[in-house]
Amino acid sequence: MPLPMAEAAPHREPIVVSGDGAPRVHIWQIGCQMNTADADALSEAFAEIGLRPGADLAEADLTVLVTCAVRQHAEDKANAKLGELKAWKRDRPGRAIAVTGCMVGEHGGELLRRFRHLDYVFDMREPDGFLARVRDLYQGALQGPVPLPASDRLCAYLPVILGCNEMCTYCIVPFVRGRELSRPAEEIEADARRLVGRGVAEITLLGQNVNSYRDPDSGAGLPELMRLVDRVPGLRRMRFLTSHPRNASPDLFSAIAELGTACEQLHLPVQSGSDSCLRRMKREYSVAEYLRILERARRRVPGIALTTDIIVGFCGETEAEFEATYHMLETVQFDTVHIQAYSPRPGTAAYRRADDIPREVKSERLHRVLDLQRGISHRRNQALVGSQVEVLVEGLGQDGRPFGRTRQGRLVWSDAPAGAGDVLSLTVTSATAWQLAAG
Ligand code: SF4
Repeated sequence: MPLPMAEAAPHREPIVVSGDGAPRVHIWQIGCQMNTADADALSEAFAEIGLRPGADLAEADLTVLVTCAVRQHAEDKANAKLGELKAWKRDRPGRAIAVTGCMVGEHGGELLRRFRHLDYVFDMREPDGFLARVRDLYQGALQGPVPLPASDRLCAYLPVILGCNEMCTYCIVPFVRGRELSRPAEEIEADARRLVGRGVAEITLLGQNVNSYRDPDSGAGLPELMRLVDRVPGLRRMRFLTSHPRNASPDLFSAIAELGTACEQLHLPVQSGSDSCLRRMKREYSVAEYLRILERARRRVPGIALTTDIIVGFCGETEAEFEATYHMLETVQFDTVHIQAYSPRPGTAAYRRADDIPREVKSERLHRVLDLQRGISHRRNQALVGSQVEVLVEGLGQDGRPFGRTRQGRLVWSDAPAGAGDVLSLTVTSATAWQLAAG
C-alpha cells in the first residue's frame, strides 16, 4: 500500500528541496534490462515534470531504487542499499526515498513497515500516481521541463511487452510483473524515433517474453514490429530480448535475415537439455523441438550467433539429466551461455518442491558447464581470426582504445582511431573466450 510521501506518518519528515533550482534525483538500479529501461523511462518522466535526473547520491534530493526480486542476492542488495540510505536521509532533512521494481509487488507494504525512513513505494507499471505526488510536493521548485542531455548511451532498451503469461515453475516474473501487456506498435515506433533523435544508434526491443508481442489493435507480431522499427531513419542496429522457444517462428528468422538493422543474434533460453527436467520447469517444449528451432535459425540466418540460459541443480535434477544438458551444449556449440545454479524463490511453484540438490553438487555442475562453454566460446571466437567484422564503437576504455560490439554481439577492442558512434569494418587479429581484438 503506497504511503504518500511525507504525509500521514508522524515519523516522516516534510519533504523540501535544498538549494536553488530544480530538485535532483538519483536513480539506483539492479537486475535485468527491463529495470534499465524502467530507470531510463523514470529519468525522462522526472525531466518532463521539471526535476533533474542523473544526480549523484551526495547531491540528490530524491533517491529512487529500481529493485529486482528474481534472485535473493538482488533483494539482499536492495535491502542493504535501503539500510545505507538512512544516514543519507539524516544528513540533510527534507530528502526523500522511493522504491519501485519487482520487490514492490512482493514486499511493498513490508518494506514501508521495516524501513521507517522509506517514503514511498510504487508499481512501475503505473507510475502516474507517484509522479503526480512528486509534482505536487516540489511544485514551488519546478520551472517546467528540464532538457535531458543527448543520450550518454548509444544502445538503448525499448520495452515492447510487459509481464509474462508463461508459468515456468522456477520464475517469479509472472507474479511480480503481471500478465503480458503489449504496447501499441505506433507508440513503440514513436519511442524509437525519439531515442534515435537523442543519439541512440542501437535499440533492443525488450520483453520478458518478447516474441509473444502482439499489437493490441492489429494483432501484428514481433516480426511486423521489427519491420516498422527498421524504417526509423538513423537507426543503425536492432536486437530483441528475451525470446521463448515456443514463439520463435520462421517469420522471426526471416525478419532477422531481411532487415538491414536487425542483428544476426538470437538469445533463446533453453534452461535444461533434459525433457523430464523441462517438464518439471513447465517450459512447454522438448529438447528435440528446441534443436529444430535452432537448426531453422541457422539455415535462415547464416552466421547467426546463438546464446542461451541454463539452470543447473533444479529440483530433483539427476546426474543423467545434468549430463543431457552437458551433451546438448556440446552438440549445439552456443556462442555464449548464461549459467546459474538454481535458487528457490518464494511464491513460485518450484518453491513447493524440495530444493534437494546439495550446494556443492550445484557448484560442481555449474563449474563443469562453465569450463565446457569457455572452451566452446574460445574456439568459436578463434575461428573468426582473419575475418571482417562490423563494429559499432560504444566508447573508449581507460587506455584510450575504442571498444564496441559486432552485429552478433561480440565485444571487440581495437587500436584503430575511432570514437563512440563510429561503425568500423575491422579484421579480427586475436580472440579469447570473451572478446576479440581487431584492427
Ligand atoms: S518465460 Fe521467462 S519470464 Fe516468463 S515465466 Fe518463463 S522464465 Fe519467467
